Amino acid sequence: MNQPLSNNWNSRSDSYDIIIIGSGYGGAITARRLAEAEFTTKPSICILERGMEWIPGLFPDESEDLTNHLKNPLNPLGLYEYRRYKDISIIQGSGLGGTSLINANVAIIPEPNVLDQDPWPSTITSKMLAPYYDDAAKGLDVTQHPKGMDLLKVQALNKRAAQLSGSRLELLKLAVNFTVDGIDPETGVERHPCTDCGDCVTGCNIRAKNTLYMNYLPLAKKSGVEIFTQVKVKCIEPDLSGGFSIHYERFSPRHNLPESGTIRANRAVVVSAGSLGSTEIMLQSRDKGLKLSDAVGTRFSGNGDFFGIAYNSDQRTDIMGFGNHPNDPPRSDVKAGPTIVGVIRYDRGKPLKEQIVVEDLTLPRAGVNPSRLLIKDLSIKGKDTDPGIGDKVRELGRVARDIGFNLDGALNHSMIYLVMGHDDAGGTMNLKNRKLQIEWPGVGNQGIFEQINNELFLHAKALGATFIESPLWDYFDARHLVTAHPLGGCPMGETRHTGVVDDCGRVFNGNGDKDVHHGLFVTDGSIIPTAIGVNPFLTISALSEHIAKCIIEELNK
Ligand SMILES: Cc1cc2nc3c(=O)[nH]c(=O)nc-3n(C[C@H](O)[C@H](O)[C@H](O)COP(=O)(O)OP(=O)(O)OC[C@H]3O[C@@H](n4cnc5c(N)ncnc54)[C@H](O)[C@@H]3O)c2cc1C
Ligand code: SF4
Repeated sequence: MNQPLSNNWNSRSDSYDIIIIGSGYGGAITARRLAEAEFTTKPSICILERGMEWIPGLFPDESEDLTNHLKNPLNPLGLYEYRRYKDISIIQGSGLGGTSLINANVAIIPEPNVLDQDPWPSTITSKMLAPYYDDAAKGLDVTQHPKGMDLLKVQALNKRAAQLSGSRLELLKLAVNFTVDGIDPETGVERHPCTDCGDCVTGCNIRAKNTLYMNYLPLAKKSGVEIFTQVKVKCIEPDLSGGFSIHYERFSPRHNLPESGTIRANRAVVVSAGSLGSTEIMLQSRDKGLKLSDAVGTRFSGNGDFFGIAYNSDQRTDIMGFGNHPNDPPRSDVKAGPTIVGVIRYDRGKPLKEQIVVEDLTLPRAGVNPSRLLIKDLSIKGKDTDPGIGDKVRELGRVARDIGFNLDGALNHSMIYLVMGHDDAGGTMNLKNRKLQIEWPGVGNQGIFEQINNELFLHAKALGATFIESPLWDYFDARHLVTAHPLGGCPMGETRHTGVVDDCGRVFNGNGDKDVHHGLFVTDGSIIPTAIGVNPFLTISALSEHIAKCIIEELNK
């Protein structure tokens, strides 16, 4: 078992040369690269992360436990965060390693022309980013599932793919370890091969998921980075000597009220608190006097995320995750697989606005029972795609058998789909009563979502299932969207007129078109100025690898 990565809070210094806010892809990658870089004088570096440290093995895997780990004002250290705004809701993680702790591991490169759109800076191109994608893929150790095509859910996804001309099913590269069993010589971290247990999005208890906690963060720590958890940064103020004061609140599980304080960054601050977190910090800082571009808070995107369900089909899918309970109930050779394994990339030659990707989802163990009840209720309003008396009898039989982890039940003959497309990144974030708000009137009516919904119906039909539309979009709250991929808020741009940061993540200071605050950087999902139409962490990681290089160059000047 490994030692914890975080340092004792009482051992902190009053100031560091470089302070990194947040420990997701932006923060962890920058921390490691800066700590390993050559400088004439080695800088002191620390990470401030609002969430707790989660040692693999301690992630919840029972449904009762999930609610106890929801982040909310009464539970500020919760691991899972669901934020609901009027037009769109957001799911994200909070902990050392950011949303990597609870994501679905998919590492995918967007179509090359995604980066050719406005307002991406002209220097950021797919060719320019290619070596950084390679660095990130290596750092996260991504690979395909060695037996992905054997998984029943992938075969079910392939049923629709086989009907399409010009689009086929591919196995995705995943940040999952399928081979190493033991201590990794580079990081010193204990790793074990994936057991196909399906619990990636509640947290991997097997030590198979290549979260940032398993790679970039231990390497950062090894090179001298100090890591402090439970520290929520509120705002940043530049000071007269060229550094920055960082105002924070520190939460302790034993005390209800956080402790407030200030810590100083002498040379640089890297804001990497995610799309919502970084934008909130920048908006709060602007209210305290930090000069910024007017673009702060703009270009929010949900990455075109959309969901749908094919319920009670004729095909067994094994989408019920079993977590770290392989024999509860006893099973032989059942493989739920990592949360996502396959993808269909549609219409790659067509204009971006028409391109979508469809992926399979496995339910984590803790989600199986609550989902069964919800999906069964939703199916009353669903569309049966293969009527007929004989089929109806078989469907009713599967519903009757749908208890616990019965493999012959309706839930184990269902598919849940995650789809991404290209929304218009037209959301805006601002502060109301000092709290972050997102406004995006009518986003759910954008044509792309109707297109996706129609395609998902055809997936359900290919399986002889009942089609259930994305629940919040259709059922409870007309056209409400849910995203696991919030992007934008501090978008990259050529100048301060379109961007909050430049092509190196430097923050425009609101004066000349390209003038920047020296020593202030943003790198995470907030700098992505458009939907990218595929799962985003590899792109966030590639940009962070690039920005880390820019920071090293700037500090070495
Ligand atoms: C269920 C789920 C599944 C997903 N699956 C995939 C997938 O398969 N592939 C993919 O590409 N993407 C996936 N994503 C999205 C992906 O994980 C995110 O896009 C990515 O983690 C964003 O990286 P980031 O560095 O911008 O932010 P994050 O990873 O969210 O990191 C931000 C960090 O900053 C911390 N923070 C926030 N505010 C503050 C503050 N004020 N002070 C200090 N710290 C702060 C947060 O706690 C967090 O640790 C998924 C997301 C979810 C929720
Ligand atoms: S399927 Fe299970 S073992 Fe494999 S990465 Fe996901 S949580 Fe870990």
